Amino acid sequence: MLAVDASQAAQKLFHARLTMPVTPGPLTLHYPKWIPGEHMPTGPVVDNVGVKFSAGGQMIPWRRDDVDMFTYHLTVPPGVNQLEVAMDYTSPVSGESGFSGGASATDKLTVISWNQLLLYPAGFTTDQLTYQASLQIPARWKFGTALPQSETAPRPAGQPGDTVLFQPATLTTLVDSPVIMGEFFRVVPLSPAGEARPTELDVAADSAAAIDISANVENHLRNLVAEAGVLFGARHYRDYHFLLSLSDHVAHFGLEHHESNDSRTSERALIDDSLRRVAFGDLLPHEYTHSWNGKYRRPLGLSTPDFQQPMKGELLWVYEGLTHYFGKLLAARCGIWSADDFRDNVALLAAELAHRPGRQWRPLQDTTVAAQLLYRSPSQWSSWRRGVDFYNEGALIWLDVDATIRRLTNNQKSMDDFAKLFYGPPDNPANVAPQVKPYTFDDVVATLNQVAPNDWRKFLLDRVNYVGPNAPLAGLEGSGWRLVYTDTPSDLQRTRDSIEQGADFSYSLGLFIGRTGRVGDSIFFMPAYQAGIMPGMTIVAVNGRKYSPEVLHDAVKAAKGNAAAISLLVENSEYYRSYAVNYHDGDRYPHLVRDTSKPDYLGEIIRPHVTPAAPAK
Ligand SMILES: [Zn+2]
Repeated sequence: MLAVDASQAAQKLFHARLTMPVTPGPLTLHYPKWIPGEHMPTGPVVDNVGVKFSAGGQMIPWRRDDVDMFTYHLTVPPGVNQLEVAMDYTSPVSGESGFSGGASATDKLTVISWNQLLLYPAGFTTDQLTYQASLQIPARWKFGTALPQSETAPRPAGQPGDTVLFQPATLTTLVDSPVIMGEFFRVVPLSPAGEARPTELDVAADSAAAIDISANVENHLRNLVAEAGVLFGARHYRDYHFLLSLSDHVAHFGLEHHESNDSRTSERALIDDSLRRVAFGDLLPHEYTHSWNGKYRRPLGLSTPDFQQPMKGELLWVYEGLTHYFGKLLAARCGIWSADDFRDNVALLAAELAHRPGRQWRPLQDTTVAAQLLYRSPSQWSSWRRGVDFYNEGALIWLDVDATIRRLTNNQKSMDDFAKLFYGPPDNPANVAPQVKPYTFDDVVATLNQVAPNDWRKFLLDRVNYVGPNAPLAGLEGSGWRLVYTDTPSDLQRTRDSIEQGADFSYSLGLFIGRTGRVGDSIFFMPAYQAGIMPGMTIVAVNGRKYSPEVLHDAVKAAKGNAAAISLLVENSEYYRSYAVNYHDGDRYPHLVRDTSKPDYLGEIIRPHVTPAAPAK
């Protein structure tokens, strides 16, 4: 029995009491370390405090394992068959980074991630352990979760609760079923007509205004649920909850679960059109796709039996890369993105990958193996280090697969056919409870060969093991579009840059500059890098005039076709120095342009497959 008290959520303090059956003698208990979907040992053990063990009112001493910080050892006294564990979770106070262990609570909302509030005994798989949880919720706050409630007094999602009792669940399912709650809360049903498995949006925000969602946005999400049903041909959940936190004071990320997702973005992401396209965009389509790719089907190396065994990320280019691909095309098919938004997004990610010299030493495969390092790596030097490129570069490789299947089959087959074969009805359709069907690289190759015979093994390995200068842009070109650069940013890029208040000279000078002139990153081997300008420096003046993005743009324009270097006065750890940047090609921003010598497969890929939901009244 796990009793969680979240009544102090606004104070960022959470309390838990765990009662568990034990036998006398040595006992080893674990705090969950490897969090599913985070692909890293991110269990927030540093915030696991106030830990006390007792039995019948008697305290029991404990000792932390001196090698594994996530493990407690104690000795259960003779005659004791029930252990009480009390613990607190001190939730981080700020910061936009981090996953579920990052900032999670504001004055108005929070998300409960059960793994932060429990221990479990060594020697069991998480499927073998059963927990029954209860949750005390702040007065007047409402809640939503995929975790089934106890039959005695279930409350529909979105109803206020004092203490909610849930049905007993395996530890796997409990940790896979977070609870969102807040003062400003709405439930929006999203299931298509006649769909047996309910799907809903449970949204909490820092203001009432932020959940005043337009009928348009609701329709996009209904279309998303319908389009995903058509794409995958089956649903592998009992019911599904999009748990969406809208706050500028929590970490921003998306975390997939089998029957829900914990997605967190800007407070006004659903009511501000710019934020809707940039910050919201493909967030929910990506996380929803994971119910099929990542949860139901999961690479063997990520299908671990408990939360302590390390995960192996070598197939993250399928787990995340293919999810990124499906997420983007679903965002376009459901209407969250226009066709232009979709193409502008692809142009931005393709341009970034085309300026990734780190590919000359680190193949994409190594970004997956090293994912647990790269998720936490800084953005500085990322062109040379590389980051979690298996998302964007993986998506481009899957676009290449899709375009190749279409070419081989005269557009009769596509990745939609792969989706139905790989993620379709389970072997035992009567089993609707979440289940995991692990896969290997061989399974992926075999299913592709079922769709369209080809040497897919070589095709994929050539791309993920490639070391060299070229980004995998063949899929873009094979789908009838080319990456070009012009002196005008796309509408999506202009919107993104105005939100981030940065100045993007990535594909001209090779600099991304933050709002105060500080260099966020300097792309290796580009003109500013060649001149010696590096991340962390601050640009103070351009050709003798105080820096602003406009002044630098003017200088880049003036230097076009002109032999004089651009002079940048730069502050570097309190010292000032002038750097001469030899660059004469003007502003450069990425776009996709149509190549009419080839069929427009990209247009086919984002074509809606279901009739859009009728506008709500
Ligand atoms: Zn993902």
